[in-house]
Amino acid sequence: MADQTKFLLEEEHIPRFWYNIAADLPEPLAPPLNPATGEPLGPDALAPIFPMALIEQEVSTEREIEIPEPVRDAYRLWRPSPLFRARRLEQVLDTPARIYYKYEGVSPAGSHKPNTAVAQAFYNREAGIRKLSTETGAGQWGSSLAFAGALFGLEVLVYMVKVSYHQKPYRRTLMETYGAKCLASPTDTTEAGRAVLAEDPDSPGSLGIAISEAVEVAAKNEDTKYALGSVLNHVLLHQTVIGQEAMKQMEMAGDYPDVVIGCAGGGSNFAGLAFPFIGAALRGDAPKVRAVAVEPAACPTMTRGTYAYDFGDTQQLTPLVKMHTLGHTFMPPGFHAGGLRYHGMAPLVSHLVELGEVMPIAVHQNPSFEAGVIFARAEGIVPAPESTHAVRAAIDEALDAKDAGEERVILFNLSGHGFLDLSAYADYLSGKLEDRDYDPALLKEALEKLPQVG
Ligand SMILES: *Cc1c(COP(=O)(O)O)cnc(C)c1O
Repeated sequence: MADQTKFLLEEEHIPRFWYNIAADLPEPLAPPLNPATGEPLGPDALAPIFPMALIEQEVSTEREIEIPEPVRDAYRLWRPSPLFRARRLEQVLDTPARIYYKYEGVSPAGSHKPNTAVAQAFYNREAGIRKLSTETGAGQWGSSLAFAGALFGLEVLVYMVKVSYHQKPYRRTLMETYGAKCLASPTDTTEAGRAVLAEDPDSPGSLGIAISEAVEVAAKNEDTKYALGSVLNHVLLHQTVIGQEAMKQMEMAGDYPDVVIGCAGGGSNFAGLAFPFIGAALRGDAPKVRAVAVEPAACPTMTRGTYAYDFGDTQQLTPLVKMHTLGHTFMPPGFHAGGLRYHGMAPLVSHLVELGEVMPIAVHQNPSFEAGVIFARAEGIVPAPESTHAVRAAIDEALDAKDAGEERVILFNLSGHGFLDLSAYADYLSGKLEDRDYDPALLKEALEKLPQVG
């Protein structure tokens, strides 16, 4: 075992392809359906909102998809990202476990999201598109796409959930610094937005509403396409640079993980780290890892939701996809990890949960922030509120290994830093955070509104 703290790769080790787990699935993924007919959706149906290259990746079963040179060149700005052995955290916990973390907060926008944002911007520009529309909750995705738009010369229009727009002015400033336009959703610029405002002029907005607005703009304008920051197969695909680098770095460390952990909102950073490890085991090329996806207890998609066809957005504009869902009308109670508030989960992650390849767990925000603070005091990095969920699970694994007297090897993804979320830490440190449970009656109501299929 190498006696190092950080494991660094050279630029030439930036992966040359993305890894597509669809090639190694023991059972294929259920296809997306046209909500009007209930029939599987052809690639052409997505053409108004996505460029063909991304639609092809969405349905591809090729194991390796080459990363275009301009995208690899953009990756050079922050990749390969470092992998650390959390020696000081191990000491604080007094655990025989070895804890490693891959740090994605070194990207310009501060999270893993630019890994797919730059790829999506590239393919759209290649297809002659001038403008991208998207939604953002806490602002991580909006700022990542704004950054990518600046690199590839695309206009970016971001529908930001209204409560966050007012609560997180710095993310908006970051988007505007990169040259994007940011609107507080619901807006009166779209039919979807106007419909919501007509019913509730004071609507705080939601990710589902903002998606509806952004999709509508793309569908109605020839020169505009839509970009999504999580959930879809091609997004998870782009994130696999994380796990491929981590495999090389674990090799440098002379170790192999028993457990691989990521927080899961839509599932992309978890998949990015875990899929290359899960795939290697499915092919029989490597030992099986326990892959743990950590979701917030207030929005418990995998642990309390239903595996069923549902819409990706509130206004029922998207195709139906089979996933773990709390229902497209479900509104989670307030909590700080904005990036983990989505009602659904990536179909690929959901499928692997059903196959027993991914273990979902749910944790509350106070124990997560507690873990974030322990981590910051030991390792120095302040994790994003979303990432603290993964830190919590990693610490619990290490404590469990201590109880069991086991030398467990734990690898987790630190998906971003929390410098633009310090108000959440301020609330935690002053004891103002509540651990609110979702309302079971509201969940039941939302699940009754799932579309009937077949
Ligand atoms: C957006 C975000 C997440 C959640 O999204 P996934 O698609 O589940 O990865 C997690 N961590 C950070 C830092 C984010 O910005």
